[in-house]
Parts: sequence; C-alpha cells; structure tokens
Amino acid sequence: MANYFKGLTGTVVTPLSPQYDEARQEWNRAIQKFPAVIVYCHNEKDVQNAVLWAGQRDICLRIRSGGHHYEGYSTGNQVLVIDLSEMSTIQLNEQAKCVTVQGGVNNSQMYRFLGSRGYPFPGGNCPTVGLSGFTLGGGWGYGCRYLGLGCDNLLELRLVNYKGEILTANIHKHADLFWACRGAGGGNFGIVVSMTFRLPQKIDQVTLIEMSYPNAPSAAQAGFLDTWQKWLVGLDIRMGMQASIYNSIEEGMAIFGRGLFYGSPQEAAVLLLPFSQTPGLTVTLQYLPFLEAIAIIEESYPESEKFKSTGRFVFKQYSPRELSQIADLIKERPVGSAFVSVSLYALGGAVSQVPWQNTAYFYRQASYIMLIQSVWTDNQYARANRAWVDERFQYLKTITKGSYVNFPYSPLANYERAYFGKNVPRLSAIKGSYDPCNIFCFPQSICSYDA
Ligand SMILES: Cc1cc2nc3c(=O)[nH]c(=O)nc-3n(C[C@H](O)[C@H](O)[C@H](O)COP(=O)(O)OP(=O)(O)OC[C@H]3O[C@@H](n4cnc5c(N)ncnc54)[C@H](O)[C@@H]3O)c2cc1C
Repeated sequence: MANYFKGLTGTVVTPLSPQYDEARQEWNRAIQKFPAVIVYCHNEKDVQNAVLWAGQRDICLRIRSGGHHYEGYSTGNQVLVIDLSEMSTIQLNEQAKCVTVQGGVNNSQMYRFLGSRGYPFPGGNCPTVGLSGFTLGGGWGYGCRYLGLGCDNLLELRLVNYKGEILTANIHKHADLFWACRGAGGGNFGIVVSMTFRLPQKIDQVTLIEMSYPNAPSAAQAGFLDTWQKWLVGLDIRMGMQASIYNSIEEGMAIFGRGLFYGSPQEAAVLLLPFSQTPGLTVTLQYLPFLEAIAIIEESYPESEKFKSTGRFVFKQYSPRELSQIADLIKERPVGSAFVSVSLYALGGAVSQVPWQNTAYFYRQASYIMLIQSVWTDNQYARANRAWVDERFQYLKTITKGSYVNFPYSPLANYERAYFGKNVPRLSAIKGSYDPCNIFCFPQSICSYDA
C-alpha cells in the first residue's frame, strides 16, 4: 500500500491514518466524504508532485485551502485532496505596496499579520475561510464597498497547472488566466500556490456597528428589509454591512446586523439614522483599531456547522408584498433546524465601479446578495432541511438574478450561467486552454467548449 502513495510528498493522510477522520472534514459537517488520500503540502514542490501523482494514477483530485466550500467541492469520495492549509507564510513589501500570501493563508492569519502593522484588508468575515477560495470566487467583505472585492485587490498569482508546471499570472502574463481567476478561479484552472495583493492605506480606527432587534415580529422583519433596500441607494462607500432576519430555537424571530464603517462614529450615526429611528431596533457603535473590530467579528463564528445555504444577487427594490413574502420564508423552521435566516450582504460602491468585463466576477451592478440558510445539529435532519431550503429557493430565484459562486448551491440548473452570467463563453475558452484534459473537475466546474 505504501508503494501506492510513492511520489506524494508532504504529510500524507490515508484512511488508515489516525488523523484521517478529522482530516477529511469540511467546515460544513453536513458534508461527509471519504477521500482516498489527503496530502498536506508544505511547499510548491509538494503541490506539483501531487498533481503528477494524480495524473499517473488517473485519480480525481480536489483542491482545499480553508475547507469552507458550502457544498464540499474541495473534497470527495475516493479522490486525492490536495490541502494547502500548511502553506501559510505572508510576506509584506511596503516599498512595492503589496503583500504576498501562500495558498493556505486564511482570513484571520492575514488580518492579524496586516492589522498588527496598521493595515486593514478587504477579507471575509469568518476567520477560518481560506483566502484562496474567498478571493478566487470574488470575495465579499465588510470592506468591499470601499476597498473592492478580494479579487479586485489581487495583483498576481502563482498556480500549478495540469502538467505540474508553475505559471505566474497577472495583467501582463497569462492575462486571460488572471482574468478568469478573479471570480471563477476556485478549483477550475489549477492550484493557486500564492497570491499577491495590493496593500491598502493604513488606518487607525474603524467604527464597528451592531444592530439588533430581539423578538422582531414578521412584519418588523419585512419593514427592516424595506429600510435596508432604501438605505443602500447612494450609500457612502465607506460603509459595509451584513444583516439577517432570523428565526432560531434560542431567540425566536429576530434581526441582527453588523458592519464596519471606515470613518468616525459621528458620521456613521448620521448614515444609520433610518435604522436607529426604527422602533425596536438598537444600534451600537464602537470606535476601535481595525484588528480589535475584527476580533469581535471573529468571535461570533463556531468551529464548524451543519447547514445548507445559497446566495443570490438582488437588483431591484421589492414591493411591500414581496418583502412580506421574503419575511414569510423563515416563519417556520424545518424539523431539526436550530436556525433559519435570510441574510443580506451590501454591495455597490467600489464593487460596481469595475466593469463586468474586467474580471470573471459578473454581477457587478447588484445592490446586495440575499442568502437563505438553515442550520441543524443532527445529520438525521439533513434531508428535511435541504428540502426546506430548496422549496424557498424556488421563490427566491424568481425575484433575484444569478448566484454568488462563493455561496453555491448544488441543485442549481445551468450553474455556469447562474454563477458567471455573460462571462461563460470566455471562461469556457480559457478552461480549454489551461486545463485541456479537465483535470480540475468537480460537480460544478467550468466546462470547456470541447468537454
Ligand atoms: C462560515 C462561512 C463564512 C463565510 N463568509 C464569507 C464572506 O464573508 N464572504 C465571502 O465572499 N464568502 C464567505 N464564505 C464563502 C467562502 O468564501 C467560500 O466558501 C470559499 O470558497 C471558501 O474558501 P476556502 O478556501 O475556505 O474553502 P475550500 O473548501 O478549501 O475551497 C473552496 C473552493 O475553492 C477551491 N480552492 C481552494 N483553494 C484553492 C487554491 N489554492 N487554488 C485553486 N482553487 C482553490 C476549492 O477547490 C473549492 O472549489 C463563507 C463561508 C463560510 C462557510
């Protein structure tokens, strides 16, 4: 058996290894897959060897960085998982105003590294999400309206291709690959072993915003959605926010929102008047160093969850009837569910200032992302919870356009069009040139014209 794995370098975990059961887990514990082998790469050579090994044995491979893919497409049954989480060095080049990370760095590691040196970063919310998966799919964060999506801050990447060669991609070199990796790169074209990002301006303090409305009746939840949609129009681009209407076992029906404002609490308070004037809704503001604000945000994330979620793009203002129908979606929890929600992620600002043709991330003009979710604690309820999301998705898709690839959904029909809109033909052609044998293949990977 040991001979079978000859050629793989790094830390090799097989079903016989004591750590296998933990190593095969994704953040979403509703996903239970059994890879043939997991290799924890320590350097680029280990990644190259893994690609060559998979090719020689004709075994499917999956790429994993932070392991947060909603549907578990960074793992699979009987596959080789190439895990980059141990490739986590970060190098700052203040003179060139850029920062380079290895492919396994996560949000928290980047925030700590840059935050302790006075820099913010347009990363995501959950500390353990991998920067690779985050950035390659677009990368929504509290800072995206001000600093751009994660992918908009990418200057260059290095990638191991299907032949095990290392390619450098930027706007001059392999520019088509670089274009594709900014919004559609997760798992599709090769294994990203490092990324170089533009360094943002230093910042002393930011305003952390929290909004809460315990015991919010459904009508108040619908009213909140209305305030939100009107509030976003022409909003100061320094403001970033995510808010949810939810129904949980512990708290019942409620509203919670959190945001970061790249400015003073006094300015934030003025911008937030539509919320602070809403009866029942409490708005609190704290003026903090960036890293302290991030630490508070990070604390709210558990180590793992069992869930089904999907996120869609919103382009319109909803009528009162539609708002009530959205609020109605979470009035009932499915059996075994601990928490259901509809969450809103503010877009606009710097995201919409980039033309859709410039990167593979397509839905630039959307006002926000709307996500529906159910979380459960025992996998015997997985089927009922997935069916609950699916039923509601049938309605959501009639009032939204396109799905966010970082909030993916396995039942999506015509998933390429849903994720990448009019960018699909160009992506298919690039897939054909950079992965002609379709080595980088998973249930919703991009198909080349010839595939
Ligand atoms: C709790 C939670 C919070 C989240 N919050 C946000 C958020 O605030 N903003 C946001 O935009 N998204 C968010 N997401 C979604 C997240 O960005 C995506 O799931 C992302 O793809 C996860 O990246 P990962 O590296 O952790 O996951 P993985 O499961 O390791 O990878 C995700 C995908 O990217 C591919 N991939 C990973 N690493 C590489 C690599 N080095 N080279 C090529 N392909 C690679 C994988 O094959 C897979 O297809 C969240 C997800 C969760 C579960």
